[in-house]
Amino acid sequence: MGDTGIPVPSWAERVADRLGGGPHVVVTGISPSGHIHNLREVLVAEAVANALRNRGEEVRFVFHADTIDPLRKVAPGVPESYEEYFGHSLSRVPDPEGCHASYSDHFLVPFEEALHEMGMDIEVLRSHELYEDGVYTDVTREAIEHTERLRGILQEASGREMPGHWSPYLPRRTSGKLTGARVLEHLPEEHCVVFVDEDGFEETADYSKGEGKLGWRVELAARWKALGVTFEPFGKDHTSRGGSTDTADRMSREVFHYPIPGRFEYEWNYIKGQGAMSSSKGIVLLPKDLLKIMPPDALRRLFLGRDPARAIELDLWEGFPRFMDEFNEETGGSEVPFNHLALVAQTVGEDVEAAATMLRRGGYEGAAGDPEQLAQDLYYARNWARDWAPESMRIGLLEPEESREFAAGLDAEQREYLGAVAASLGPEMGGDEVQDLLYSTAVGRGLKPKRAFAAVYKTLLGKTSGPKAGPFIAGLPPEEVHRRFLGS
Ligand SMILES: [Zn+2]
Repeated sequence: MGDTGIPVPSWAERVADRLGGGPHVVVTGISPSGHIHNLREVLVAEAVANALRNRGEEVRFVFHADTIDPLRKVAPGVPESYEEYFGHSLSRVPDPEGCHASYSDHFLVPFEEALHEMGMDIEVLRSHELYEDGVYTDVTREAIEHTERLRGILQEASGREMPGHWSPYLPRRTSGKLTGARVLEHLPEEHCVVFVDEDGFEETADYSKGEGKLGWRVELAARWKALGVTFEPFGKDHTSRGGSTDTADRMSREVFHYPIPGRFEYEWNYIKGQGAMSSSKGIVLLPKDLLKIMPPDALRRLFLGRDPARAIELDLWEGFPRFMDEFNEETGGSEVPFNHLALVAQTVGEDVEAAATMLRRGGYEGAAGDPEQLAQDLYYARNWARDWAPESMRIGLLEPEESREFAAGLDAEQREYLGAVAASLGPEMGGDEVQDLLYSTAVGRGLKPKRAFAAVYKTLLGKTSGPKAGPFIAGLPPEEVHRRFLGS
């Protein structure tokens, strides 16, 4: 107990202050029916769990993966033939790519791995195993015994008449489907229901063994009691009038006689230029990919924003370097602007030694002195430059022979200019000095600065523009610049 080492935002401390004494069970849950991207919900729950832990409370933090839920639609990238599995539990549908035990594990396992990579203290529970292990047995019996009351609550919330044979429990039919059976009888001592199968035959399902599940609205309230939940965050779509929390609150109070857990309503994360994140529309950012460009605490900060009750737009492209700079400034991280680090990373590849030299020349002594941290920071910057950076930020120092090819397109004035710069360029010059030299040499020779700088960028990068030339050149080994400027 005590400090988790993960920073707890102040909004989470305020939420924790409103929750009573422990022990606490903090729950977050997602149906693994496609790529799981809803990191904000998990991070809201984690922040509150950690605030409680910091307060000295005993906390169980659970990710409830709805693996017993029926497949309802085919995720992007999955063959249409999977429609034949509609109604089957996700844990019983084959992996579309054959790499995991099931359809649900195919999407759940990478997410689970990312949570562990973030150092999250969380238990991932699969709902089909909870049903098979009897965790839901008592609440299922209670639900079936109060079928009429539950039906009344749903009817009042939806304003629609529910079918006469409605049941809170969905037994698995012989076909494997979880929907559409008609429950005839409840045998509570044997925890069984008798139901009519699609072929008209009577069957039984044992609800202590996972042979069916509660309908999702009822399950939400039943889960609070079955797991002893004291806090759960919800997205705004669930908390609207008549939404799933409305019905679950009434069911919890009136049927399960269980106190409604503490709640936090969070807003969505949007992706710049693409809209709300949605796995069914294929608009997703996968935590595993994002951990390749930033450390876990930056990812927490990116997804939560300053206040997760407000929507934010995620920008992994142009806006990302600024986000990283702000993050580093607030957390005492790297002093090197992320843009500059991306430049260094692209110039030196994986050579940490060479990166340290470049950074020293640029005046970043501190960053150059910690090779382990520098290697990690370069890894993030290099991946970002490769996978997300706008074209203008993507650079690579040309090999000398490539540089000669590009230099062949320059005219005599431009070539003479580069020779003059090379002659004056010294190893001790800083970024501003080099910038001055590039400019004054051009002016002195009557060469328009635009053509002068184009010559510089062409021979170094193969482009007509690039990062601010002075600091970039100052960071490179002088002999490498000479070789390219002199075409030798
Ligand atoms: Zn797989």
